[in-house]
Amino acid sequence: MRYLVFSDIHGNLEALEAVLNDAQKKKIDYYLFLGDLVGYGASPNEVIQEVLSLHRLFMVRGNHDKAVAGLDSIQTFNPIAAAGIEWTKKALNKKHLHFLTGLAKSPLTIHKTITICHGAPFDEDYYIFGEFDAVEAFNYISTPVCFFGHTHFPFLYVAKDEAVEGTFIEQFPFEIRLEKGARYLINPGSVGQPRDRNPQAAYAIYDSRNNRLKFYRVEYDIAESKRKILATDLPPALAERLSLGI
Ligand code: ZN
Repeated sequence: MRYLVFSDIHGNLEALEAVLNDAQKKKIDYYLFLGDLVGYGASPNEVIQEVLSLHRLFMVRGNHDKAVAGLDSIQTFNPIAAAGIEWTKKALNKKHLHFLTGLAKSPLTIHKTITICHGAPFDEDYYIFGEFDAVEAFNYISTPVCFFGHTHFPFLYVAKDEAVEGTFIEQFPFEIRLEKGARYLINPGSVGQPRDRNPQAAYAIYDSRNNRLKFYRVEYDIAESKRKILATDLPPALAERLSLGI
């Protein structure tokens, strides 16, 4: 099976469309979405509609999805993120707001071999930043592969021979072959708001038949995403950060 793994779209339709177009030629069997459809960007309804149109989709909710749905308070969010959540609540139509309330909580097991979660397998809101966190996360994963999002950084952790090693992915495309006996914790990066100083939209493809995993980056119409944000009451900083990839 070929899985398209993507995360953190955050209402950025142009970035999502670029990823889906790029992946179209790559024969995808299943889509695995790791949470945060909305928050920050100007196209939350269009993003939800586009993701819902995907067949063979598995997904979990993100912390922004949860806050917009009213399932979590916005107190833990910084003022700019909180403003994005308040704006999105008003912008979403009833059907999509209702859809967000019903999203699954992390973690989810897919085809008995893959775990997906938003933050960490032990806490959907936790940020895995570094090997110390990864060691803890591996304690909660019973599949050889786990995908996570939330940090907006493409990252790969390998647990092998009692050791855990992390690699920040900086060159794209980047391909590795997953070894039998090793376990993997993988972040594909963010579609709609990359924070690794590379503004291109991020995603990954995992092929379970040959055990290959490939990280991709794709250009998208950043100017259009920014223009849409600036035409709303969303904080202008949310537009600026897109071209910087921060
Ligand atoms: Zn996010």
